[in-house]
Amino acid sequence: MSSSALVLFSGGQDSATCLAWALSRYERVETLGFDYGQRHAIELAIRPHLLAAMRALRPDWAGRLGDDHLLDLTVLGKVSDTALTGDAEIAMQANGLPNTFVPGRNLLFITLAAALAYRRGIDVLVGGMCETDYSGYPDCRDETMQSLQSTLRLGMATDVSIATPLMWLDKAATWQLAQDLGGAALVELIRTGTHTCYLGERGTLHDWGYGCGTCPACVLRANGYAGFVKNI
Ligand code: ZN
Repeated sequence: MSSSALVLFSGGQDSATCLAWALSRYERVETLGFDYGQRHAIELAIRPHLLAAMRALRPDWAGRLGDDHLLDLTVLGKVSDTALTGDAEIAMQANGLPNTFVPGRNLLFITLAAALAYRRGIDVLVGGMCETDYSGYPDCRDETMQSLQSTLRLGMATDVSIATPLMWLDKAATWQLAQDLGGAALVELIRTGTHTCYLGERGTLHDWGYGCGTCPACVLRANGYAGFVKNI
């Protein structure tokens, strides 16, 4: 059993749930975020507040939660032409993928996370990738993560592993997982303290949290919350 983990922590619902999952399993947990020129850069601004709130929620989590790292990956925004790194209207492309797909994003995230984990003596990387109800991004698929894990083990000669606790959960089940890990207090923190909206909208607090309410990320989050509430 590994004792430490590095969580890819963007400040969104999924990564906050992954962080709670890791804090319930590992003795030492560090977090990593990326500035990749995302349109919703507000998620970078809320990360420190969210981390502080996670610490305040439970003393045992506060004792386990270690350093937070933020890496500059703005080069990714420069090589890609997407609705997530530019001002284009969100739309479906001819290849069946939405133009919010940032090619190479998760591949680079995980590879850089592995490099950082190597330095920090951590052998588990935790990410919120999910292929249950998602936007079809190929770098969120379990097969991609399995393949990348093999590549990293070969390329770094370590036993690094990639844990994806949300991979087979739908969004309602992700809300339920937060409830199971941290009760109503964690659900409320995720509802009000995380950011998911692609457009960076935080003007209106809906029952499912802040957001524009119409972009694909908001729609997924809202539908998931509605399913979660219906089940309790
Ligand atoms: Zn939105």
